[in-house]
Amino acid sequence: MTNSAGHVIVGASAAGISAALAMRRAGFDAPLTIIDQDPNLPYERPPLSKSLLGEGVGALKPILAREAYAEAGIDLMLGETVEALNPATHRLRLSRGQTSSADKVLLALGVRARRLEVPGSGLENVLTLRDATDAARLTGRLQAGGPLVVVGAGFIGLELAALARTHGIAVTAIEVAPLPLAALFGPEIGHLVRQLHLDHGVRLRLGATVRQFLGHGSVEALELGDGERIEAATVVIGVGVLPRTSLASAAGAATDRAGIVVDQYGRTSEPWLFAAGDVASQPHPHLAARGRIEHWDAAMRHGAAAGKSMVGDLSAFTDAPYAWSDQYGLTYQAFGRPQPGDRLVLRDGYAPRRFLAFWLRGGRLVAVLGLDAGRDISAAKRMIEAGAVVSEDALRASHFGPRRQARTGRQSVSSQT
Ligand SMILES: Cc1cc2nc3c(=O)[nH]c(=O)nc-3n(C[C@H](O)[C@H](O)[C@H](O)COP(=O)(O)OP(=O)(O)OC[C@H]3O[C@@H](n4cnc5c(N)ncnc54)[C@H](O)[C@@H]3O)c2cc1C
Repeated sequence: MTNSAGHVIVGASAAGISAALAMRRAGFDAPLTIIDQDPNLPYERPPLSKSLLGEGVGALKPILAREAYAEAGIDLMLGETVEALNPATHRLRLSRGQTSSADKVLLALGVRARRLEVPGSGLENVLTLRDATDAARLTGRLQAGGPLVVVGAGFIGLELAALARTHGIAVTAIEVAPLPLAALFGPEIGHLVRQLHLDHGVRLRLGATVRQFLGHGSVEALELGDGERIEAATVVIGVGVLPRTSLASAAGAATDRAGIVVDQYGRTSEPWLFAAGDVASQPHPHLAARGRIEHWDAAMRHGAAAGKSMVGDLSAFTDAPYAWSDQYGLTYQAFGRPQPGDRLVLRDGYAPRRFLAFWLRGGRLVAVLGLDAGRDISAAKRMIEAGAVVSEDALRASHFGPRRQARTGRQSVSSQT
């Protein structure tokens, strides 16, 4: 080990832990500390919305075994909040009164759930879901039964709706947009998603807003903007997130509405500060403009690239962002990000329970979303990475198998890298 103060990572999750491992793999041998306010051994966040009921309830899935941190020479400080960063001394002020110093700091702070600013939002059992504590509380509520109301039909709200319906709990999902997921994937996909949930007995209130939550101490109902009253034993708010930018901005680093502003290597405007994962406002080739990518796999890859960059091996995260979501025993998988103006092509034979959607930009395949279409998704991913130019007919045709085309390079598919 050298005499350097070493590097500190704030946030022990997908981005932070990947960054630490990447630094070690790159040969960094000075002290390396990861600090997290969460007292639990760092765990995977995606299962929190998928295994709240049934087998394995309450068991957090560790990202790494406890021994792996020591083996990699990583000092793990859990249950400790970083309260301030001092740019002059490179010291971090911690919640228990200690300080720590660092040559460089990676901010992998993630996001927090946005609350709804309406009367009654402080009532008991109006919940959000981001961490293990939230998941434990929600598990207890769902074990007691319904009705459950989810406000926001994004991925987390829809996963919770599906989970609750699978266990026979009455669910209403309220969404301000006219269709679920349409902002990300467009109205055609929104219709398919809507139908899947209707088929499973979710009551959908689309184009609806919440006027207030009603109850005495604990939530009992909510009132929509049009006056409709919906009974609720538990409400989960899933209306988006806010990036944790205050530490960075107080230390002089540039931030914007999306998060902590970084370049392609995870560098902030302050040379000793880096940021990665959900909290970062990043320039990514698959985004129309700089912004956040809120997916587990992307956070890991972004963290790994930033970690390498911090130890002198400048690396950019440019892979097509991958996301998945489990609903009713089926898995949505997506690579890349459709942008306004991209051409949507749905494979023939699509249905709410099984479909494959492609987006073309200038004839080139740039994004794919599938439900229950794992093999085809993998093949489409390779075509996106290869910059394949594909004919719409080939994508639409029911016999089309991206796997076969990618392998054989038929005429309708050519690679232009
Ligand atoms: C319920 C749920 C389900 C999800 N499901 C999926 C899914 O199916 N597929 C998918 O692709 N993505 C999913 N995601 C998104 C995915 O989990 C996130 O994209 C990913 O966790 C981001 O990783 P991160 O390391 O950037 O931040 P986070 O995982 O948010 O971690 C940030 C860490 O920083 C810590 N921290 C923050 N501030 C401080 C501070 N001042 N001091 C100390 N510690 C601090 C926090 O405690 C936290 O542990 C899901 C997210 C949630 C919440």
